[in-house]
Amino acid sequence: MNKSVILVVEDDVRVRNLMTTTLKLHDYKYETASCGKEALTQTLSSRPDIVLLDLGLPDIDGKEVIATIRSWSQVPIVVVSARSEDHDKIDALDLGADDYLTKPFSVDELLARLRVVERRLQREKYEDRTSSMVKNGHIEMDLAAGIVRVNRQELHLTPIEYKILTLLMKNIDKVLTHTQITSHIWGHSEESDVAGLRVYMAGLRKKIERLDPISTYIQTHIGVGYRMQKVDLIEKQ
Ligand code: CA
Repeated sequence: MNKSVILVVEDDVRVRNLMTTTLKLHDYKYETASCGKEALTQTLSSRPDIVLLDLGLPDIDGKEVIATIRSWSQVPIVVVSARSEDHDKIDALDLGADDYLTKPFSVDELLARLRVVERRLQREKYEDRTSSMVKNGHIEMDLAAGIVRVNRQELHLTPIEYKILTLLMKNIDKVLTHTQITSHIWGHSEESDVAGLRVYMAGLRKKIERLDPISTYIQTHIGVGYRMQKVDLIEKQ
């Protein structure tokens, strides 16, 4: 598999160098941009496979960069933010970013985030989009029939749990924010919905765990949202 071309958007020279050195060491190709305007032109001209985007840029706000890119491209965007920009990180995900890294991050974290995105890109390439079957680990969903099986046993869900699970299964490996999930379920998003969502998530997890006590499917991102992790079956490895 050819390694992806990464566009590194970062105005801090030290951070940018750490990123490019890491990418080079791991055989990635990369391009760099040090401001928002450059990020936009580079995304258009070099057509990167993944954009690593610092949110605090000197010219345009990182969130605006995301919104602009999303108006013409679905290229995966991994946001890099400082802890003080926590709220920006959530806004960035709501605007269509795929994942995030919080500064300071380790080289391993950076590589792990890239691998997750690459794995998803690879999967999307070979996915049969006409199929109504969605699978992850021991979970199998038949969207046409509205049936969920875990370890070949039927999972009985409430309509809301089913809606949540469908959304998560259609976005494997992607972080979904509370707002994205609650507006999908209820058509709106309020503070009280987030508390409600937590209850539904707990219930959903418990039901899945009852039939598959080994795998961890739903990851919690505190203050941000949830991610359905890709679970590989051991016999397939
Ligand atoms: Ca910055």
